[in-house]
Amino acid sequence: MAASWDDFFEDSLSALKRQGRYRSLRVVDALEPPWVEVNGARLLQFASNDYLGLAQDQRLRRAAERAAREIGLGSGASRLVTGNNSEVSRLEAEVAAFKHTEAALIFPTGYSANVGVISALAGKNDRIISDRLNHASIVDGCRLSGAQIDIYPHGDVTALRRLLAGTRVSGRTLVVTDGVFSMDGDVAPIPEIHALCRDYGALLLIDDAHGTGVLGETGRGSLEYRGVRDASIVQIGTFSKALGSLGGFVAARRVVIDYLINKARTQIYSTGMPAPVAAGAREGLAIVSGQPELRLKLAALVRRLRNGIRTLGFSVGDDPTPIIPLVIGGDEQAVRFSEELLRAGVLAPAIRPPSVPPEQSRIRLSLTAAHDQEHVDTLLNTLETIVRGAQERPWLMTASS
Ligand SMILES: *Cc1c(COP(=O)(O)O)cnc(C)c1O
Repeated sequence: MAASWDDFFEDSLSALKRQGRYRSLRVVDALEPPWVEVNGARLLQFASNDYLGLAQDQRLRRAAERAAREIGLGSGASRLVTGNNSEVSRLEAEVAAFKHTEAALIFPTGYSANVGVISALAGKNDRIISDRLNHASIVDGCRLSGAQIDIYPHGDVTALRRLLAGTRVSGRTLVVTDGVFSMDGDVAPIPEIHALCRDYGALLLIDDAHGTGVLGETGRGSLEYRGVRDASIVQIGTFSKALGSLGGFVAARRVVIDYLINKARTQIYSTGMPAPVAAGAREGLAIVSGQPELRLKLAALVRRLRNGIRTLGFSVGDDPTPIIPLVIGGDEQAVRFSEELLRAGVLAPAIRPPSVPPEQSRIRLSLTAAHDQEHVDTLLNTLETIVRGAQERPWLMTASS
């Protein structure tokens, strides 16, 4: 007899529950940021990727409203057919200028940008070398490409060099890394990786989903922060985080973009970005360039929180990103920690495998320019109460040791 679908669903879900990895959706209504409402409770959140506090910004709303009125909502077709509106095309020119590249191409999401770009760039005779902690969308793009995939330990440039110097493939080599790692908040060693790629003739792709708008003197991202400028680097990004809207992009040389227009399947076979979404992203990009004070405010909050967390005995890195992980360890422990925070009015969900490696479940704290010093201090006081009270919380004892 054939295996039963119902048994399969039930078994899969109970296995997740046993492992403490079962997840469900909750409705989070945005109030004035950084506040949100969940089940009628008003919570202070440290969990979004809206790093500059633009997702609710009136200027983005007005830009989207205007585009909805003048152009409409749905774009009606893929961009190569008729779904290529003027807002999207303007946004591409602005992204290219912002990232100092010849051209840019927009995708429905950052996820589909990675999947489409990586699987178009590399094929079965090629090789992709990828950081162990790269985002799931990079992993999926690599797998879909059919290329040989070599993984190096997180941030390990010596291992990367060894891989580049070692086995040869008949085709080309693509090296892929996150600019800012989404669950650890550290910045990749870009100058070293870049130098190796040049030495070995590999193409470098950097996914700067979390760096764009946040890092660097003018918010251009982790390349600017690390002082690397090379128009031949393929840069992926998203409008869904600091830029307050939705959508992904790739910025690169004109010839690369022309190739991707013809080859990236997530672009070719998917409907074009709606004009209001593009208009909102354009406004977000303009604010990033025109309001450096948002970035400075965020940077000061980041220093305050990182220092405070260090004082509590957690180890935290030095990179100035607004992603600050509190690594707790076990899945169940991380969930209970998050529940304690929730009881104190703080929303910061536990992140568990497969989003992070086993035994590295954590609370992923993130800051935005919509937070103020008092919010950070409230969070630190709440964390201190939980950590200091570890005696009454036996489940936590192994975590803070
Ligand atoms: C969020 C994220 C993406 C996906 O971007 P979306 O626009 O949300 O689909 C890609 N890469 C990294 C590193 C991310 O953190």
